[in-house]
Amino acid sequence: MLRLTVLIENSAPDHLIAEHGLSLHLDYEGHSYLLDSGTSGLFVRNADRLGIDLSRVERAALSHGHDDHAGGFSAFFRRNQQAPVLARPAAVQAYLEDTADPSRRPAGVDPDLFTKWAGRFDLADGPRLLAPGLHLIPDAVSHEQSLVAETAHGLVVMNSCCHAGAAHIVHEVRALFPTQKVHAIVGGFHLVGKTGMGSLGVAPEQVRLLSRRLAEELEVEQICTGHCTGHPAFDLMAQQEPGCLIPLHTGTCLSF
Ligand SMILES: [Zn+2]
Ligand SMILES: [Zn+2]
Repeated sequence: MLRLTVLIENSAPDHLIAEHGLSLHLDYEGHSYLLDSGTSGLFVRNADRLGIDLSRVERAALSHGHDDHAGGFSAFFRRNQQAPVLARPAAVQAYLEDTADPSRRPAGVDPDLFTKWAGRFDLADGPRLLAPGLHLIPDAVSHEQSLVAETAHGLVVMNSCCHAGAAHIVHEVRALFPTQKVHAIVGGFHLVGKTGMGSLGVAPEQVRLLSRRLAEELEVEQICTGHCTGHPAFDLMAQQEPGCLIPLHTGTCLSF
């Protein structure tokens, strides 16, 4: 049994805090895990309001080396004394690569995080296990990985921004687990434009194609998305595949 709670996302109901970023809490087979930490550490306050005790998290993972997913880990480490954070080694390098190109806003993680908290990060490329039934699967982007949970409904693939492409990621996961279907994908799809959540960064036909590929070709039953998907892309996907689209907001709870 997997129970997912969105601890922070770009939107939130009145009693919770929103920020650009994503953090998911997992209750999997009675154990507590964390995927990502948002940008600032505010997800800790949301966890308190939602009754989730972050000091009990046993292990954590970083989906990829971007600041809107790793920036809150200092706050997490102050709250939680034991959980290691499993990340790919290239997550440390993403910031340096970004700053090498002055035309790009650095999206990478502040390198101080990895030096100050070196003892809390466990860096390896994988595939490896976060726990029995809970897999970390690297994808084609050097610093990115999916968290894949085996559930009674099938696999639940969590990938916070899907920089490698949501359909590619699901396709590869299906190849690695040929006897199990992908029941759900959870995360942002990186379709937003440069001017904020109201903008679209790709051609509309690309969004329609992605939702068709996920729902029809790859037979994903639930597409749970928010964060860097953006509103126009979400609306296009809702028109294309209305039956299987679920929005992610701060505080959203999903059970599989
Ligand atoms: Zn990202
Ligand atoms: Zn992101």
